[in-house]
Amino acid sequence: MLKVEGLRAGYGAINILWDISFSVDAGEVVAILGSNGAGKTTMVRAVTGMVRPTAGSIQFEGEELAKKSSRFILDRGIVQVPEGRQIFTEMTVLENLEMGAFNKATRAAFSKNLDVAYRHFPKLKERAKQAAGTLSGGEQQMLAVARALIGMPRLLILDEPSLGLAPNIVDDILEVASGMAKRDRIAVLLVEQDITKALACADRGYVIENGRIALSGTAEALSANEHVKKAYLGI
Ligand code: ATP
Repeated sequence: MLKVEGLRAGYGAINILWDISFSVDAGEVVAILGSNGAGKTTMVRAVTGMVRPTAGSIQFEGEELAKKSSRFILDRGIVQVPEGRQIFTEMTVLENLEMGAFNKATRAAFSKNLDVAYRHFPKLKERAKQAAGTLSGGEQQMLAVARALIGMPRLLILDEPSLGLAPNIVDDILEVASGMAKRDRIAVLLVEQDITKALACADRGYVIENGRIALSGTAEALSANEHVKKAYLGI
């Protein structure tokens, strides 16, 4: 579904990503792993059109996206839950969810998808009229994921969903994401520093080091890899 090849990108004169190639298929959860500053967020920004690649291709369902705008990419169904959630704190939970319906198709399906989002995260239904800024950190992350669901993703990108959250909430969020992959056949790209959690949820993964893919493989193979164990799992 998503096929990235030879991707190079950075900020101004500084190149961050070098020759990045990876793919995500429908029904799959693929983890992008790496430590602080490895280039994970830059990679997500390149896929979503927020950083312009200087080389390589980003094919999504056979269409080239490397030079397209963020709006064009969003309309193709690539929806991101950004690092730090970026919810609208002054707006209510429901108003935040309404912001997820960004085009005609998602507006038409809004009430159906709102039911689905509330089924996944019943807390949000209870707090629909509450200002989003008053939610707990975990609830805010749920809201960010629910808002992405309203956008009817074909590819859902989660950027560091575990950041600052209790482990059981992270588990809930990852369970919803992998449930969507398996049941609705969407593709999920999971960017994570918590490698144990990410590999427990993902089918496959890629490890980024200094802007390059250092390793790739099934979640099982990566969990058993000596370098991954030593450098990232501390075992
Ligand atoms: P983290 O897990 O800490 O979010 P990351 O793997 O997502 O890290 P990136 O955010 O992609 O890493 O950053 C990769 C490199 O790009 C870092 O050295 C960072 O300083 C640099 N960088 C990120 N954003 C910008 C920017 N807007 N302008 C210049 N350099 C940037």
